Amino acid sequence: SLKSGIVGLANVGKSTLFQAITKSSLGNPANFPYATIDPEEARVIVPDERFDWLCQQYKPKSQVPANLTVYDIAGLTRGASTGAGLGNAFLSHIRAVDAIFQVVRCFDDAEIIHVEGDVNPTRDLNIISEELRIKDIEFVEKALDALNKQTRRGGQSLEMKKLKEEEATVAKVLQYLQDGNDIRKGNWGPKEVEVINPLFLLTAKPVVYLVNLSEKDYIRQKNKYLPKVKEWIDANSAGDPLLPVSAQFEERLTLLGEEAAAEEECKKLGTKSGLPRIITTMRTALNLASFFTTGADEVRQWTIRKGIKAPAAAGVIHTDFEKTFIQVIVYNYSVLKELGDEAAVKAAGKVMTKGKEYIVEDGDILLIKAGA
Ligand code: GDP
Repeated sequence: SLKSGIVGLANVGKSTLFQAITKSSLGNPANFPYATIDPEEARVIVPDERFDWLCQQYKPKSQVPANLTVYDIAGLTRGASTGAGLGNAFLSHIRAVDAIFQVVRCFDDAEIIHVEGDVNPTRDLNIISEELRIKDIEFVEKALDALNKQTRRGGQSLEMKKLKEEEATVAKVLQYLQDGNDIRKGNWGPKEVEVINPLFLLTAKPVVYLVNLSEKDYIRQKNKYLPKVKEWIDANSAGDPLLPVSAQFEERLTLLGEEAAAEEECKKLGTKSGLPRIITTMRTALNLASFFTTGADEVRQWTIRKGIKAPAAAGVIHTDFEKTFIQVIVYNYSVLKELGDEAAVKAAGKVMTKGKEYIVEDGDILLIKAGA
């Protein structure tokens, strides 16, 4: 399962939000987040109306939705990259996740101390992005040093040529970071990506920005800091999603207990829980796609990287299937939804048989044939 971590300064609302995510019952009939693995880790269901529709159609014995693991990572402080606060331990936790939720405090409350003295979201954004970048620079410098040592021997071998190419890419990456950029914003070629990926750089990970608002601001969708935050993201992290949330409001909804009570409260206030959208946005940011397997026994949503071929998708179901893949029978959810049921899809001649080169599309319903 893919992992996302909640990151931000202390006292911005990370834990409150995480707790709300683990306790919420909204947005999914199967009980949105279904498992708290340990106090800092929760596996949540990714809401998807296609899955809900398929379950209604097949009424299977077992329903297995897609999920996302969310980690509550302890607060970051200025200077973490040089070991302040939890420092390096904290940063290594971020290294282990696939994507980052960055919580930015945009609520005023004199009772809740801000570690930097006052509420100033763009300053906070700068602190976090600098800490992550400094750590990446340090890491890339070490990688470059190691490469320099290896290439010093010189020579014309193929291996040396490869090392030198790698060295050139790592030097380029270092310069890019030193110029104040995040790696995920670079235009990297496929060969460069091969060098960059194994470095697990912090600034390479997708980010979803969550602005934590007071309940009042969340409901009216207005906040005095928001324009500046938007400006900052456009300038420093263009294209990354920004979602308003109110950790306090979400917490209050979970305390109402019953899903119906929370729904009624939302209706009364003319608002909705922000949690389902947070999860679906993260899924999009991770550049993932889904395929489904359906039947009377089980309806299941599977997670894949976009653009993978049928044997690799089969390998997600069972590792052996990738090697023993024969063919796949496929039609897309959109066709099924339009025509009503499987028999109608067959009658319309829309069921396809595809081989190893087939690129699985988002929403495909697959029946994989594999054998020894
Ligand atoms: P963390 O250190 O980032 O995990 O922050 P916490 O979630 O522990 O929150 C710190 C304090 O801020 C707690 O007392 C929360 O109740 C409070 N808090 C969180 N979100 C909000 C909010 O939207 N408005 C207000 N007024 N307080 C909040």
